[in-house]
Amino acid sequence: MIEMRGVNKHFGALHVLQDIELTIGRGEVVVVIGPSGSGKSTLCRAVNRLEPIESGTILIDGRPLPEEGKGLARLRAEVGMVFQSFNLFAHRTVLQNVSLAQIKVRGRARAEADAKSRALLERVGLADQADKYPAQLSGGQQQRVAIARALAMDPKALLFDEPTSALDPEMINEVLDVMRRLAHEGMTMVVVTHEMGFARSAANRVVFMADGRIVEDRAPEEFFGAPESERARDFLSKIL
Ligand code: ADP
Ligand code: MG
Repeated sequence: MIEMRGVNKHFGALHVLQDIELTIGRGEVVVVIGPSGSGKSTLCRAVNRLEPIESGTILIDGRPLPEEGKGLARLRAEVGMVFQSFNLFAHRTVLQNVSLAQIKVRGRARAEADAKSRALLERVGLADQADKYPAQLSGGQQQRVAIARALAMDPKALLFDEPTSALDPEMINEVLDVMRRLAHEGMTMVVVTHEMGFARSAANRVVFMADGRIVEDRAPEEFFGAPESERARDFLSKIL
């Protein structure tokens, strides 16, 4: 579903992605962990072409990333992204937030889009919040709206970049529960997170990044049981 081959990128002198090789199959859930600044967000953003790369190739479902225009809008719909900071439209209702791109990018009629939005809001436990504005919701609820909005595009894969890092502790689980359910239903997911419980329970693989490189890429039980690299052992000793 997602293939990165020899991907490199710099920010000035900083080699932020170094010879990245990563293949993510349909229905796989890959958790990406690593120290702050190791390139996790840049990796996610590269897959969605929010960051251009300098060399290498990225294939989505066997096809190279489109350069721009319509193809790019379609790609971003097919590979949805959920950010730490929700990014909802403040002056639109919850329902409008979920419907907007369906109408603009997918070309759905408003009634059809709204019906789908209501079904998705029900799925993330927010059926009764459709007519509120984002500021009237808790952080956990806003993040679930963001997930519903991404799902509304019928994505082939979803990227999550620290989706619970901005949330108060008591709201983290309501978001992780939605993500666990998606994983269980077979959604292809890349999840940057510090939630090691989620990594253990929902991931097929853990990718550990440090200094722009993928240092380990293994099953969670292997990774947490006996990390191979000094970097990973050091990282885990700090967060666990
Ligand atoms: P992570 O998500 O693992 O914390 P990032 O991918 O956000 O890491 O960043 C990796 C490195 O690239 C960091 O050192 C960060 O400061 C740098 N960086 C990220 N985005 C930019 C940018 N737009 N311009 C310059 N440097 C950046
Ligand atoms: Mg980041």
